[in-house]
Amino acid sequence: MSSSSSVPPAALRSPPATERGADASMGVKGAKPSTKRRGKKKGKGRKALGLTIDDDPARMCIVCRAAGTPSTLLRFARSPDGAVGFDVNNRLPGRGAWVCATAVCLHKATEPKHGGFARAFDAAVTFDAAALRAEVPQMLLSQVTDRLGLMRRQGSLLLGRDEVIRRLVELAAVGLATDLSDNSRHEVRERAPGAVFLVLPTMAEVGAAVGERPVGVVGIPRRGAEALQAAIARWVGVGGAAAP
Ligand SMILES: [Zn+2]
Repeated sequence: MSSSSSVPPAALRSPPATERGADASMGVKGAKPSTKRRGKKKGKGRKALGLTIDDDPARMCIVCRAAGTPSTLLRFARSPDGAVGFDVNNRLPGRGAWVCATAVCLHKATEPKHGGFARAFDAAVTFDAAALRAEVPQMLLSQVTDRLGLMRRQGSLLLGRDEVIRRLVELAAVGLATDLSDNSRHEVRERAPGAVFLVLPTMAEVGAAVGERPVGVVGIPRRGAEALQAAIARWVGVGGAAAP
């Protein structure tokens, strides 16, 4: 029985491309994509969840030169008139400039004197540093709440601590709102030993995202969990979760 299980039938090994999309778009496991590629068209990897997987996922921060992938770094794009904007979904055309999803690298990249964007694009650039610095955490927050809303509409997101505790084994992670009380936080952690916990926006923001009253404890389903986690990591990285 076990000897035959390592080689599943071809039909099981090759699900339709549409079903593979969700997995392929997560891209946070660090697994190298197969070197055998069926097509070389650019943009082939664009997926519905909003992350783009390019042929070569390795990117470098224009500030500190640390390596990353499209799902861990921030992408900035330059419009034809030279304006630099944050490309939250990694979708805007043209060359991108990549920056670590940290407050430090974001700040340095948007310092006019740094000149990182001009070098990266090899062209004149214009941007409003203060606006960009405010906009990036805001857009990342929206990406997080959009994903929560999508999961809720798909019927897979669980709301409230009792429901989450009861169905813990089905979940990839438990999300806790940043402003959840210490008592509640402690209680959930006690009742869900070994669970993976994710930082979420405020109870009001999570509630608004899922069309409900404020909610502090959310059960994250497996499907889409990695994309959500990647979005949360970028939002937390730029300091988005630090707001009271
Ligand atoms: Zn950096």
